[in-house]
Amino acid sequence: MDTIHITMPDGAVREVPLGTTAAEIAQQISPRLAKEALVARVAPIQGPFGAAASASTGGAPEKSPDAAPEARMNSAANGEGFLVDLRAPIDQDVRLSILTPKDPEAIQVLRHSAAHLLAAAVLELFPNVKLGIGPPIDTGFFYDFVRAEPFTPEDLERIEKKMRELAAQDIPNERKMMPKPEALELYRKWDQGFKCELVEERAIEPMVSFYTTGKFIDFCRGPHIPSTGRIRAFKLMSVAGAYWKGQEGNPQMQRIYGACFYTQQELDEYLHRLEEAKRRDHRRLGQELDLFSVQEEAGPGLIFWHPKGGLVRKVMEDWLRDELLRRGYDLVYTPHIMRLELWKTSGHANFYRENMFGPVEVEKDDYQLKPMNCPGHILIYKSRLRSYRELPVRLAELGTVYRYERSGVLHGLLRVRGFTQDDAHIFCMPEQIESEIEACIDFAFAVMKTFGFNQYVVELSDWDAKHPQNYAGSAEDWARSTGALESTLTRMSIPFKRMEGEAAFYGPKIDVKLIDAIGRPWQLTTVQFDFNLPGRFGLEYVGEDGNRHQPLMVHRALWGSVERFFGILIEHYAGAFPVWLAPVQAEVLPLSEKFAEYAKKVTAALKDAGFRAHLDDRNEKLQAKIRDAQMLKIPYMLIVGGKEAEAGTVSVRQQSKGDLGPRPLAEFLSDLRQLVDSRAI
Ligand SMILES: [Zn+2]
Ligand SMILES: [Zn+2]
Repeated sequence: MDTIHITMPDGAVREVPLGTTAAEIAQQISPRLAKEALVARVAPIQGPFGAAASASTGGAPEKSPDAAPEARMNSAANGEGFLVDLRAPIDQDVRLSILTPKDPEAIQVLRHSAAHLLAAAVLELFPNVKLGIGPPIDTGFFYDFVRAEPFTPEDLERIEKKMRELAAQDIPNERKMMPKPEALELYRKWDQGFKCELVEERAIEPMVSFYTTGKFIDFCRGPHIPSTGRIRAFKLMSVAGAYWKGQEGNPQMQRIYGACFYTQQELDEYLHRLEEAKRRDHRRLGQELDLFSVQEEAGPGLIFWHPKGGLVRKVMEDWLRDELLRRGYDLVYTPHIMRLELWKTSGHANFYRENMFGPVEVEKDDYQLKPMNCPGHILIYKSRLRSYRELPVRLAELGTVYRYERSGVLHGLLRVRGFTQDDAHIFCMPEQIESEIEACIDFAFAVMKTFGFNQYVVELSDWDAKHPQNYAGSAEDWARSTGALESTLTRMSIPFKRMEGEAAFYGPKIDVKLIDAIGRPWQLTTVQFDFNLPGRFGLEYVGEDGNRHQPLMVHRALWGSVERFFGILIEHYAGAFPVWLAPVQAEVLPLSEKFAEYAKKVTAALKDAGFRAHLDDRNEKLQAKIRDAQMLKIPYMLIVGGKEAEAGTVSVRQQSKGDLGPRPLAEFLSDLRQLVDSRAI
């Protein structure tokens, strides 16, 4: 057959000569499409004459050397097909899509090509570097190099300039196939040991796929965009250390990171988001606003709440405890350290051991610092026989736990070794599942609303039904509880994403991720079934039938932890908490010492009314005091001088709105009362 059939996404079928390329088809469709096309997706169709021929259009079967875990872009051929170069000859009947910047997956190809452009530029300037790998990542790309001297910021500037030069030359990205021995010889001559290693390990076919960009030649499966001219909006960001193949002990490499988007506007927006994230970094704000610290003397990952952070925490916890009681939870407290034996019963001493601090010996008995609150709550449940009349039992605790995390991954308040979960465990009967789940979700939404978040993503994680042996609980347990989670979300009209195979081994769960002020998602609430612990601890209740039954158990945390949620709040508000949460709600600023008496009176009135007020009686100029209060992000500044003292007023200045003019003190107090009581955001 000299012709093949190409089925387009709209169903139209084109008959074209064997070996026609996607670029040619794009050109036939419209010059505009040809200009915008970046890469193509082909899916072989079983022809009428039998099996699909081996697809030389596809990537060679060697594993992509660039396939870092975050960069799996062209998975093997499945029903969806695979990505190929526009210039690749098509040699069989296929379904074909021509991808342009409108297609989300094309951006990864562009970024991968940008990584090649980076390597090409580095080779021009530093011909002796040794090359590692260079995959696309979420917002751009990187490439790993070995070079005796570190790359400096000036080097990055030069490299970026060279990249722009090479991009402007619109150099084609050409694919070449060569026999494996020839490929090895090429890299050996060039003294590129890492590349030799990759070819040795990953090239499983006699022919090896290469891409060239000018002088740069890379062992790479591709695909790539046709030429460098399309790489326009990029910026080299940083250099970081990386080990060859990500393994400690392997040679150290220098990883150059770049950001890359289709348009300058997208790149600018990304850079702006990065700036914003830096401005909002809770570690910096925590120090500037004197909220918390981590003390090297005490150890990494352990949080010290300073007085102002402590005040915010008190307000957060007060709200939570009141809500817990209002919603039918019981508040409990459990020990921080318990016999290791208990953690053997729960199974944590086995499957969770790597996350636990080591045991402590006391009177020849091993004790374990708690990594979780569940066993403690279970012991309270088990402390006496329960009747169905008592269920559901909802035990809540602001429970402090300790978990081992490698020091390298610790991060401010977000990744720590000691933290307080807003934890609760619900023990209920099967017929109570749905209403309990609904109540948990309702509570989670109340948290988001109260603390000022209105965007969220909900995920429902199910088991992998093909591997039931990896899970606790029966197929019936899983079907019933996943069904309950699903129907509850549906009944509450909450859109959710189903995550097959993402559940923990002990039960399905719902996760709520909130989206913060600059669009970043944060994992927050989790509501999780447990088919494991009730059995391990032999939990029971006496049913209406007089027989003993095993209750269902649900773990749930709304904030996740107080520390983490506090970190999220700091970043969400950039430190400028709404007035009901702010550690200092109003700062009183006397114009001069002459008005100290009246300033004291105003401060006392605020404190008497239950507000968190502070008097700035330093001998400083008013402007300096305003600037400092502004820096501390205090919501209200009350300026008092002669006029105010005489009229019984305060001149109000709001943190973001500026000067609001004079107000009678009583009126200001009642307005503030209203804002605080309504928890206005
Ligand atoms: Zn590559
Ligand atoms: Zn738990």
